[in-house]
Amino acid sequence: MYRLVCVHCAATYAPDQIIYTCKHCGHLLTVEYDLDGIDVSREEWDRRPLSVWRYREILPVQGEPVSLQEGGTPLYHLEKIGKELGLPELYAKHEGMNPTGSFKDRGMTVGVSMARQLGMTSVACASTGNTSASLAAYAAKASIPCVVLLPAGKVALGKVAQALMHGARVISIRGNFDRALEMVHELCISHGLYLLNSVNPYRLEGQKTIGFEAIDQLGDVPDRIVLPVGNAGNISAVYKGLRELEALGFIDRLPMMTGIQAAGSQPVVKAIEQNLDELVPEPAPETVATAIRIGAPVNAEKALVAIRATGGTAAAVTDDEILRMQQDLARMEGIGVEPASAASVAGIRKLAEQGLIDKDERIVCVVTGHLLKDPETVVRQCEPPIEIDADLHSLLSVLR
Ligand SMILES: *Cc1c(COP(=O)(O)O)cnc(C)c1O
Ligand SMILES: [Zn+2]
Repeated sequence: MYRLVCVHCAATYAPDQIIYTCKHCGHLLTVEYDLDGIDVSREEWDRRPLSVWRYREILPVQGEPVSLQEGGTPLYHLEKIGKELGLPELYAKHEGMNPTGSFKDRGMTVGVSMARQLGMTSVACASTGNTSASLAAYAAKASIPCVVLLPAGKVALGKVAQALMHGARVISIRGNFDRALEMVHELCISHGLYLLNSVNPYRLEGQKTIGFEAIDQLGDVPDRIVLPVGNAGNISAVYKGLRELEALGFIDRLPMMTGIQAAGSQPVVKAIEQNLDELVPEPAPETVATAIRIGAPVNAEKALVAIRATGGTAAAVTDDEILRMQQDLARMEGIGVEPASAASVAGIRKLAEQGLIDKDERIVCVVTGHLLKDPETVVRQCEPPIEIDADLHSLLSVLR
C-alpha cells in the first residue's frame, strides 16, 4: 500500500496517476508506504539474494518485475587509498557492476516495471548518458519503444553506444542536459510517453536499495555515505530508503549523507555552504565528469534535506582531483570507474585532508559507473600502447 505525496505541500495522489509534479505547487512527488502494514523481517530479507528485489516489500512493483538482475554489487574495502588518507574504514560500492554499468539500472528495473504496471506503451528520458543506456536496455527487455534525448557532443562514447545498440531512438539536441530534460518532460506530458528521469518517483524507489545493500554488506550502518551529485536523485533516494528502514525499526541511526559535485557545476555545494533554502542554478555547467554536468539539479530540494537532516555535508572537487582519483582507484585498488564516480572518493580525500572527517568513521563511497563508459577520457590521460616490430629483441628493448 502506497501513495504519491508532494515533497513541498504534502498533497497526495493515487499511485496509478501518471503525474511527475504536484498540481498545486509544482514540486516533486515521492512514494509513501503504509509502513505499519508491511510485514517483513530482516531475517526474511537475509535469506534472499543480495539484489534490488531482496527488498520488494518496500518497492511499488506488483508481480514479476522487468529485471536484468540488477543490484548485488560488490562493496570493496579501499585498503590502500584508505591507508594513505588515514581512513582505515573506507569502502567503495561499485555500481559500475550493474547490468548496463551504472546504478541507473536499479532505478530502471523499477521504473520500467511501473511503466508496464501503469499500462504505458512507450518510455522516454533526457540523459547525460547512463540513464539512456539503462532505459534502452530495460525497454528492450520489456519490448516497449524508447526515446532518449542527449546533449549533443557531451555524452561519453560507451553510453551512446549502449543506447544505440539496445535500439532506442537516440536524439542529440544542440543544448545542455537541463534543456534536454525540459524538452522531454514537455514531450511526455503532451504525447503520453512515460518519463523516466529522476523526476519520476518510482525510479528513485529502485535506487534507494544502494543504501540497503551497503548496510547488509557491512553488517552495520556506516557513519557516512558519499555520492557524486548531478540531478541529486540518487542521494535523495538513498536517504529516503534509510528513513524507511529506520521507521521499520531495522536501523537506529542514519549515516551522514555527503554529496560531491564538480567544481564547474556545484549549485548544491553552494546552497549548503551559504545555507540557502533554494538553489541558484549554474547556467553553464562544465566538467570532465559528464554524468554530473548538471546546472539545475531537479531533486535539489530533497537532497538539501537529506544532507542537513543527517549532519552531512557537500564539497566540490576539481577535474584534476577527479581524474587523479580515477587513476588511483584503478591502479591502487583495481577498481575501474568513470570520472563522475571517482568524484565521491576524491571528495573524501579532500574532506580528509581538510581535517573535516573523523579518522575512525566508517565510510561508504558510492562509485556510480564503470570505467568502460568513457574510453575517450582514458585515452586522453594515459600513454598510448607502444607499437614495436614483432620480434623478441624489440620487446626486450622497450621493457628495459
Ligand atoms: C546519473 C549519474 C550520477 C548522478 O546521479 P544523480 O542522481 O543525478 O545525482 C553520477 N554518476 C554517474 C556515473 C551517473 O550515471
Ligand atoms: Zn505540492
